[in-house]
Amino acid sequence: MRTRLDHLVTAALQQGSAVPAFTCYDFTTALAVVGAAEDAGHGVILLVAPKTAGTSNGLRLIAALRGLADAASVPVAVQLDHATDLKVMADAIAAGADSVLADGSSLPYEDNIALVREARAVLGAGVVLEAELGGLAGDEDRAFGSEETGGDPAGVAVAGLTDSAQVEDFVARTGAQLLAVAVGNVHGKYKGEPQLRWDVLQDIAVRTHIPLVLHGASGIPAGELVKAAAMNVGKVNFNTELRTGVLSTLQEQLTAHRADGENLQGLLGHWNTSAREFATSALGMLTR
Ligand SMILES: [Zn+2]
Repeated sequence: MRTRLDHLVTAALQQGSAVPAFTCYDFTTALAVVGAAEDAGHGVILLVAPKTAGTSNGLRLIAALRGLADAASVPVAVQLDHATDLKVMADAIAAGADSVLADGSSLPYEDNIALVREARAVLGAGVVLEAELGGLAGDEDRAFGSEETGGDPAGVAVAGLTDSAQVEDFVARTGAQLLAVAVGNVHGKYKGEPQLRWDVLQDIAVRTHIPLVLHGASGIPAGELVKAAAMNVGKVNFNTELRTGVLSTLQEQLTAHRADGENLQGLLGHWNTSAREFATSALGMLTR
């Protein structure tokens, strides 16, 4: 059923839960995520990457996700993730998205605020806006470990921590309804054990009443994620681990399914199962 993303998240927090959000590049994954949410009896968020939404096929995917969300037996919201382009934001909303992450986190502070305000002016009062303060290292759509890049994603993330002293001013001036934070979380693969800065998160949580959002949850241990809702983190974004699971499954199953009469339908069944199991485990971690 259709829901406002902020209402979904606020209701979850009141139960001591957070809502998982999963990047869907395709409809098979979205079906699996919604199926898992219906089994669990909890709401869920479908994320669409800006590179997806920037194409005509991507806008058709958003329209399809809208139909899937509306027909679900649990609350499902569709959000455009990490957008910087106002036209892509407007197109995604027109196609059926409920919410946008207007992401000016890579911009100077005042420009970040200006982007969120422009998004509000373009999209209108009814669209739920998430904003991001502090820089997240890594790539949202492709995960590279330190071996591949020679870089140090975790080290970069520490340099971009959200400055809690800016939080009150940022929330008041942007009018954002959710706030994505950088507290040692990164997009993609972590180098070693993630070191979440709970002290910084605590400091942010006391400075604003709007729900906080944790991106880059893949790789953060379950024992850490269960603490999120107590810190007013009401939305947790997953992407990399879901992709890893699906791609490993497809790699394992490909040869047998080619031999079995080019059985694409069977292969898609394994894709669904892998994504569904991942979504089920994330829902189990975050919901009470
Ligand atoms: Zn993200």
